Amino acid sequence: MPIARDDEGRVPLGCACPLCGERDRDRLVWLDDERVRCTMCGTEYDPNDERAAS
Ligand SMILES: [Zn+2]
Repeated sequence: MPIARDDEGRVPLGCACPLCGERDRDRLVWLDDERVRCTMCGTEYDPNDERAAS
């Protein structure tokens, strides 16, 4: 039985856009190793720094 892949094509929850919650890889552009730009709302964030931001 194949396992359902709900997360296929999506980033982990901790890497989602902090503003709109976008997780689709196609809509999240990696600017470099630590910066991601959400093309849905234009937010740039560090997906590895979620706890420090909140
Ligand atoms: Zn966003």
